[in-house]
Amino acid sequence: MTDLEVMEIAIQEAKTALSKSNFPVGAVLLINKEIIDKSQNQNRELGTLCFHAENSLLIKHSSLIKQAVQGKDFVEIYSTLEPCLYCFAGILQHNIHRLVFSVSDPNVGASSILPYLNDWYRKKNITIEKNILVDTYLPILYEDNKRYNRYDWDKLLALNNRK
Ligand SMILES: [Zn+2]
Repeated sequence: MTDLEVMEIAIQEAKTALSKSNFPVGAVLLINKEIIDKSQNQNRELGTLCFHAENSLLIKHSSLIKQAVQGKDFVEIYSTLEPCLYCFAGILQHNIHRLVFSVSDPNVGASSILPYLNDWYRKKNITIEKNILVDTYLPILYEDNKRYNRYDWDKLLALNNRK
């Protein structure tokens, strides 16, 4: 599958999250280019802080990911939104090989901290790609923002080169 095809699936998850009044983030886990599972943010629905789309995949499939990495399989996570510090730490901890996300997050996006971390993290050599289907995902994020006003929208657009 292409990056666009996988991100479309993640965006569908984000739409479902929005329909349940959750913060609209979707994520997909792949091993050797095969989809293992998909997930969506469930924090508002469950009244928690830890059911982020990416983190839910990591917790559910932690041992599978560990085995895959040890077996030299290629592990990827796609997310509609730049992972927060919590999820990015989990992605590094699991030695995920590639992270692909759509929109950069000016509030809690943490993917740019990698150069400032200790060697132990930097040597993991994760590949990060972003700006995939930004214009498809932005309207979904905007719907949530109209209600919860989580972002300074101009700042978010500027960070994503849409202004
Ligand atoms: Zn997160």
